[in-house]
Amino acid sequence: MVSVPDAVVLHDGETVVKEQMGPEDCSEMAMEALCRAGDEKADRWRSLGIVWRNVILMALLHIGAVYSILVIPRAKPLTWVWSYVCFIVTALGVTAGAHRLWSHRSYRAKLPLRVFLAAANSMAFQNDIYEWARDHRVHHKYSETDADPHNATRGFFFAHIGWLFVRKHSDVIEKGRKLDVTDLLADPVVQFQRRYYKTSVLIMCFLVPTVVPWYFWGETLWNSYFLASILRYTVSLNVTWLVNSAAHMYGNRPYDQNISPRENRWVTFGAIGEGFHNFHHTFPFDYSTSEFGLRFNPTTCFIDLMCWMGLASNRKKASVETIQSRKLRTGDGNRSGNQSQDHSSVI
Ligand SMILES: [Zn+2]
Ligand SMILES: [Zn+2]
Repeated sequence: MVSVPDAVVLHDGETVVKEQMGPEDCSEMAMEALCRAGDEKADRWRSLGIVWRNVILMALLHIGAVYSILVIPRAKPLTWVWSYVCFIVTALGVTAGAHRLWSHRSYRAKLPLRVFLAAANSMAFQNDIYEWARDHRVHHKYSETDADPHNATRGFFFAHIGWLFVRKHSDVIEKGRKLDVTDLLADPVVQFQRRYYKTSVLIMCFLVPTVVPWYFWGETLWNSYFLASILRYTVSLNVTWLVNSAAHMYGNRPYDQNISPRENRWVTFGAIGEGFHNFHHTFPFDYSTSEFGLRFNPTTCFIDLMCWMGLASNRKKASVETIQSRKLRTGDGNRSGNQSQDHSSVI
């Protein structure tokens, strides 16, 4: 139902106000308004540039994930364990790999570890490392602006999944092109994964998770496909997206109250240590993405283990003094979600 506006400029340029309208004018006005509303709506959809392929694929994936829940009781317990192992490997490919190593260079990794993290990253199927790291650097540099790929000021839905349903804003592309990514271009592991990305995703995200339970303990391909591939993939996507959505909206800002990212303990739990987001945006170089080291941070445990095994080195860490002075200067005065007793007296 379209109401008649107070005044309308007709196509011939004439302006008519509501009080001057006769019955014919009113119907003409209504038709004009209706057409215009329709045009504007069509323009809005067009300007959004919806990527229907992603909309349909994500809808099918989430329907598949809901169905997967029904499969859980029918599957063997070893398949449940395997699905969880795949989830952890997937998560490490994003957190320890694309994020802390390749986006932020917060530690160094030797070739065998980089190969493992690249394979784990293909299991995550969240764009190749090069594109992920470049978009993430843009996200940090231009947070909460049009150049931020998942700009949280456009709402929870956009920051969570909606940004994948529309074409990238021109600012994301323009600013992304200006970023220095020479380190990513110079890393042969990153380039190899990019060149063979589709094949590696097919193998790591779908084939390996499905075939292992079938081959080693006689699980049906149907059960292992829906649990270790579809459900594991969908859950890992959503916990990663929660860092962009929930951790940019809900929680305290003990380190810098002038930015949107927040400390969110639920995201920390789901994203194996990536929910200390106010800390991370304040000190993006810190390999632990947190003030609290190993606590609630399986990714930090993994990187420390790799250092102990001689596969990683040069972990960067914000000093306690730097963190405390920053808290006093720009923090919101709140204790962080996982604040330790040692620091509570400072705030
Ligand atoms: Zn980051
Ligand atoms: Zn962020």
